Amino acid sequence: MKNLTIAVDGPAGSGKSTISKKIARELDIIYIDTGAMYRALTLKLLKNNINIHDKKELYKILQSTSIDFRNNHIFLDGKNVDEEIRDNQISTNVSDVAKIKEVREKLVEIQRDIARNKSVIMDGRDIGSFVLPNANYKFYITASIEERGYRRYKELKGKGYNVNLDAIIEEIRERDRIDSTREFSPLVKCADAIEIDTTDKTIEEVVVHILEIVNRGGK
Ligand code: C5P
Repeated sequence: MKNLTIAVDGPAGSGKSTISKKIARELDIIYIDTGAMYRALTLKLLKNNINIHDKKELYKILQSTSIDFRNNHIFLDGKNVDEEIRDNQISTNVSDVAKIKEVREKLVEIQRDIARNKSVIMDGRDIGSFVLPNANYKFYITASIEERGYRRYKELKGKGYNVNLDAIIEEIRERDRIDSTREFSPLVKCADAIEIDTTDKTIEEVVVHILEIVNRGGK
């Protein structure tokens, strides 16, 4: 059978990872969370006190870093960093790391390698526009900023973090701004992507909707 590739893009907190994970399970295909990769690299740069504007230093660290997925868990240099990459410090720094050309080149290469000759659903910001421009299906998942902030707030609160809703909305707004205005492969809705606004929808409703489209073979 021919490989199936699904690209899912959208702003922070739109629900795309949760939705993509469920679709991967339903269709028995591989899920790749590209945001987790940018987060893992940010973790490494912060831990090693790297000045991201020092190209030589950055290049050295990029050369000596491995990021991969094993059974849906993210590994940085062989260590599982699922939890560490969700830290607030990573969320506030990741977009500044993700706008660097050399960073994107390195991670996009890994992403395309993972997807080669496999059926995948990959989520991120530039998947339909740049990483997998020939994907069979492209979705752009969005929601109002208030709803996205509230979802993130509930998620973090549920994990026991002491969080403030307004601060989370501001962090998301800033991340959206940097992600959609950066020079290299910014967040955009591709002309051939199907847009789904999840503001008033449950995760299940969106999953069913996407599965219907895929099973039908188009719009
Ligand atoms: O998806 P998530 O919110 O975890 O992504 C974290 C950050 O990684 C984004 O805000 C963005 O700066 C960056 N990112 C990116 N390109 C992708 C995926 C994520 O620039 N394909």
